[in-house]
Amino acid sequence: MLNDQELLRYSRQILLQHVDIDGQLRLKESRVLIVGLGGLGSPVALYLAAAGVGELHLADFDTVDLTNLQRQIVHDTDSVGLTKVDSAIRRLSAINPEITLVAHRTALDEDSLAAAVAAVDLVLDCSDNFSTREAVNAACVAAGKPLVSGAAIRLEGQLSVFDPRRPESPCYHCLYGHGSEAELTCSEAGVVGPLVGLVGSLQALEAMKLLVGFGEPLVGRLLLIDALGSRFRELRVKRDPGCSVCGPKHA
Ligand SMILES: [Zn+2]
Repeated sequence: MLNDQELLRYSRQILLQHVDIDGQLRLKESRVLIVGLGGLGSPVALYLAAAGVGELHLADFDTVDLTNLQRQIVHDTDSVGLTKVDSAIRRLSAINPEITLVAHRTALDEDSLAAAVAAVDLVLDCSDNFSTREAVNAACVAAGKPLVSGAAIRLEGQLSVFDPRRPESPCYHCLYGHGSEAELTCSEAGVVGPLVGLVGSLQALEAMKLLVGFGEPLVGRLLLIDALGSRFRELRVKRDPGCSVCGPKHA
């Protein structure tokens, strides 16, 4: 049930026929894992906390640095030196005291990642490196959990949803597993705040759609964002039947 305060707090989204009381209850009963509390994870965590997702599981082993604040908007100047998880918990619980926040402050190995993924309904990959993305994808495929994946570097962003519950859905490895170009990180290549904000906001929106069950999720499609030209492009992406992660031999 929703109490009077919750009905008021969420009234503007409950007004939508796509959400309504039932959808709000579904959000309240949902558990979500956010991997990475940086530029993407910041808007993801802020919007999903504000929207009333019942349990947010927050994973990051890093601490807040001054160079983060240009884009990682869940943290503030007073948070420099704190763990990103504790910094985010302070801000998110101030935004919405009705929700539960679960902390993962240490790096997740294969077993702890599998357990963290098994404990939730949906995962958002907001990490900044290929090896984490591959590990999170493999854990999601193994557990049959939907994965909302976003990335941004320089002035380009990418977004897709991988949902192993749908037989036609590719996984992250189907798309990127065949030797990607040299890995770049934001600390080396640079990135602008509003672009990671945009990609993270879209990730939060895709998560809400999947949890509530409305709209058409970005499954089998890769959204490419060109910030320089203000252009959005969409590529169809297919499941790779020989994929070493989600292929039939490993299903
Ligand atoms: Zn695959």
